[in-house]
Formats: sequence, C-alpha cells, structure tokens
Amino acid sequence: MRKRALTRVPYWRTIVKLPGPFPPETESKRKRALPLPKGSTSAELFVPDSSVVSDVMPSPNFGERNDGRYPDMIVLHYTGMPDVEGALTRLCSEGTDVSAHYVVLEDGRIVQCVPESKRAWHAGAAFWAGETDINSCSIGVEIINRGHDWGYPDYPLRQIAAVIALCRGIMLRHDLPSHRVLGHSDVAPGRKQDPGEKFPWQSLAHSGVGVWVPPAPLSHGGEALKPGASGDAVLGLQEALASYGYGIAANGDYDKATMEVVTAFQRHFRPARVDGVADHSTLTTLQSLMTALAAQNALNGGS
Ligand SMILES: [Zn+2]
Repeated sequence: MRKRALTRVPYWRTIVKLPGPFPPETESKRKRALPLPKGSTSAELFVPDSSVVSDVMPSPNFGERNDGRYPDMIVLHYTGMPDVEGALTRLCSEGTDVSAHYVVLEDGRIVQCVPESKRAWHAGAAFWAGETDINSCSIGVEIINRGHDWGYPDYPLRQIAAVIALCRGIMLRHDLPSHRVLGHSDVAPGRKQDPGEKFPWQSLAHSGVGVWVPPAPLSHGGEALKPGASGDAVLGLQEALASYGYGIAANGDYDKATMEVVTAFQRHFRPARVDGVADHSTLTTLQSLMTALAAQNALNGGS
C-alpha cells in the first residue's frame, strides 16, 4: 500500500525543501577570494591544464623538464604549514625555490601554480625505480594539511574527492599508470613523512588512483625483522621493496636506510603501526602488494 502510494507521487514533489536563507553570494565557493596576499608573485598567468582547477596562481619557481622528459608519475604531498596563506605564499614567491603544479585546498578548490609541461620544484633529492630526477618526470600535488609538526588533522572528504578528480585527469592526459601515483615519503623516505599515514590511499585506489592492498592485521608474535638483523630474510625484504621502486640497497643488513623505507611502506600500506619494524603484518602486506602488482603487470601484457 505504502509503496504504491509513493510511486504515484511525482519525483519532484518528493524533494525536500531546503532550509533557507542560503549563505550570501560572497560565501560561495566560487566567489570566495583565495587567501593570498596580492602581488606575492611575479610569474605570468597561464591557462590551466585541468578543468577542475578553480584558480591559477602562477609560481615563478619552475624550469624546463630535463632531457625532454614527460611526466609519468604523480607525487602527492602535504604542505605541512600552519595555514593556507603561508603555504600558498611560499609556493608562489620568488626565492623560496619550491613549487608544485597543483595545490588542493581543504574545501576542495584546486589552484594551479605551474603548467604541467614545466618542471616544478617539489620532490627535492628523491628516487623511484631507478629515477633520481623526480621533478623532471612527475606532477607535484600539494595538499593543504598542517602535517605532523602542527597536529596533523584528518583530510576532509571533499579535499580527497578533489585530489581524486585532479589525479584522474592527470593520469588520462599523460597515460600515467596507477602504480606511479606515490607519496613524497615513498620517493624520499629518509627525509619526508608526507602525505602521511592518515592519507586515505584506499579511497583513491577505489577510484582508480594509485595501488592499494588491504593491510594484513597487526599480530603479536611471529617473526619480525628489525634494525640489527641480517641475512637472507632481510635481503628478500630489501629486494621486494626495491622491485616496487623504493631506493634501497639489497645488502642483507637491516640498516638505517632499510628502516626508513619500511617506515615509508607502512605509512602508505600498513598505517596502523608506523615503526620501521618489518613485523609479520608488514611482510604479509608487502607480499600482497607484490602479488597485486604482478597480476596487474600480467594483465597489461608484461614488460
Ligand atoms: Zn612533500
């Protein structure tokens, strides 16, 4: 009875009237001014590469991509500064020597600072899968978040939705494979923690951005590899991490570099405990990742 009655009501009559009044125009997302002091940049305006960009705020900090490289990787960062104004000013001011192609605000707005064709200065000393000039082969995306030094808040959903939309476009434009979407901590594990263990890689992967496998549950007991350990098990761990792309020497010793890379792996894939100790859960998660990547590779016809 009830069901039948419902289907007879035209759909537009079932729409609930939204409570008013609506916020004034100046409060709308489109009209709100970007929190940046005017005149902080001397760079030329350009046409944004992506339709999801709401504002262009040109940064003077960029150059040409070396050896005519094309971007084939996305590096995700957090800004790690207490406020948006400071972060944008730093990325767009002469003399700071830092920039990124995009900045994603907490409210989901996306600002482009450097054209995709140019080499932005976001990765610094870094390494991935044999490549050391990460800036020349990547698109850098800065996500506004205060970071570990300033309380490290959760990433709002609308911000993550914007990151996903942005990354999907970049991947399409540059035919960029999912496994080349990485965090700054992945390419610079000894120096960087961003975007950090709160970054929802799982949500991104569910939208086809980045690779993710379910982390194996934390377990007590079982073999754990930790600093000071050496031998074939450590070698196997190092080889697996290196084959994924991490900059790690397979020498069989659980040295400082190994601990840093394991920490980076945990931030990305097993965030429940980030301690640099390759416990059973970490090793199992790494194994799942290797299996998933091999399956993906086989699906794509190898190479
Ligand atoms: Zn970074």
